[in-house]
Amino acid sequence: MKYQSFIGLEVHIHLLTKTKAFCACKAAFGDEPNSNVCPVCMGYPGVLPALNGEAMRMAALVALALDCELSPSTWFERKQYFYPDMPKNYQISQFASPVGVEGHVDISVSRSSGEAGAVKRIRIKECHLEEDAGKMIHTGDVSLVDYNRAGTSLLEIVTEPDFETGAEAETYIQQLRRTVRWLGVCDGNMEEGSLRCDANVSVNLTGAGLGRKVEIKNLNSSRFVRLGLDYEIDRQIALIEKGGTVKQETRLWNENRDQTEPMRSKESTHDYRFFPEPDLPPFRPDAAFVASVKAGLVELPFNRERRIEAEYGLGTELALNICEERAFVDWFEAAVEEAVRLGVELDVAAERVGIWMTGDLRRVMNRDGLDASAIGSLAISSGQLASLVALVASGRISIKIARQVFDAVLIGEGEPEALVAARGWELVVDPVKIAAAVETAFVAEAAAFSDAVAAIVRGDAGKGKSLSAFLVGRSIAASGGKAEPGLIKAVVDARLATAVSAATAVAESTGGLNPRRSSEGAR
Ligand code: ADP
Ligand code: ZN
Ligand code: MG
Repeated sequence: MKYQSFIGLEVHIHLLTKTKAFCACKAAFGDEPNSNVCPVCMGYPGVLPALNGEAMRMAALVALALDCELSPSTWFERKQYFYPDMPKNYQISQFASPVGVEGHVDISVSRSSGEAGAVKRIRIKECHLEEDAGKMIHTGDVSLVDYNRAGTSLLEIVTEPDFETGAEAETYIQQLRRTVRWLGVCDGNMEEGSLRCDANVSVNLTGAGLGRKVEIKNLNSSRFVRLGLDYEIDRQIALIEKGGTVKQETRLWNENRDQTEPMRSKESTHDYRFFPEPDLPPFRPDAAFVASVKAGLVELPFNRERRIEAEYGLGTELALNICEERAFVDWFEAAVEEAVRLGVELDVAAERVGIWMTGDLRRVMNRDGLDASAIGSLAISSGQLASLVALVASGRISIKIARQVFDAVLIGEGEPEALVAARGWELVVDPVKIAAAVETAFVAEAAAFSDAVAAIVRGDAGKGKSLSAFLVGRSIAASGGKAEPGLIKAVVDARLATAVSAATAVAESTGGLNPRRSSEGAR
């Protein structure tokens, strides 16, 4: 490859603190504009900010989840810039000593590399805590500003320029989104701006190191991150090929034209005139603080996915879908545990529960507008799904009946066991009744039976198979649809086998009806 590309991402996440980062105003969205404001977040002279402990705890939690080192002393700087949505004319941010530094995260690159299970390590440069600005609303020839968002807590997570493609960056965003939702520190909603991504990208001749970077803003979905970066990489390569040079600038992704467009030339660090915020003392995390943060450090999605895959013998895709949300996989593990307690083998229980959850359950949740994290509000519990799985696994009900039970449980008609008993849904497993059902079908379908035997004797496996499946179906029908299909099939197969060996014996003793067999005999 002639060119190499370098991508570094700066992701801002809105922390789910109840109040703002440095004052007691409510941090809420959708309220009456400018109703959640006070002299502190409005930047009145003489006021004193105070650090929100919950914001610091959440910031440290994300930092630890990304394997960062916590700074032994972390403080704030003022970042000066002038924009109407910033009443103080500076933003309280961090520059010299961020909450966490030098972490890393492994992302799955099996799709782009085509190698199953392939991972790539992305270095995290730092995580720093800052406050958000307000919101400008431009309508017609007036501009309005809502300061409810001004001063709310943001965590900025900055990577080293370790991504090479838009697809890798997209995967990282998706994984990071899942992680922060998992930790309960951010809702991850990109359209609403709770998770925002600025992407930096440069290209250079392979081996020549970093190129001159361009920053892309306005990437409000992980898909746009991918499209914007791939577009920009192509644009920069084309420019260099034509003998031009890349300008250091900020560009905007235009989602209607699928391209990036120049916005402004980039400020450099000295434009911001950072200096330490004199009104906030440095924060030094002590052992008790670190312990309380670590208590919230649950098993993370990437690790949990690997464990779920290995421990339950699930396919990668199924494991990924189950681990989409923490509440979803918690529910999964509870259901599997209960099914095992009810006598189902572990791998069978896991596969069955997984298929129910990613199939029928998800369908119902989508219909009701619930996302995977809201599984707890579903009308069926993990215990009820476990009984359903146990009923099928023990052969007491068919999959078809299980769906009816599922629907009935969902509308609150009762417990799976009780429903099956009360409605006579249990499958017939009595061998005498099974044999009788097969007998009835074979009498009624005598022609199909002898055709099946002839086909098998002839060596026409396809025809033999389809006729025997037909006989199984007729036998189940003869039981009123209640016979356990596996038992029926066993009896049908046994009876066919007996008839086939009798017919073969006759054929061989009369010199052979089967041309293949007789020619073999002649050799
Ligand atoms: P700035 O001072 O412009 O904010 P930083 O050094 O803080 O730049 O880096 C911001 C982001 O840009 C980081 O994610 C970093 O990995 C990325 N980055 C820095 N230099 C380059 C480059 N030459 N090409 C691509 N990305 C880069
Ligand atoms: Zn305030
Ligand atoms: Mg920077």
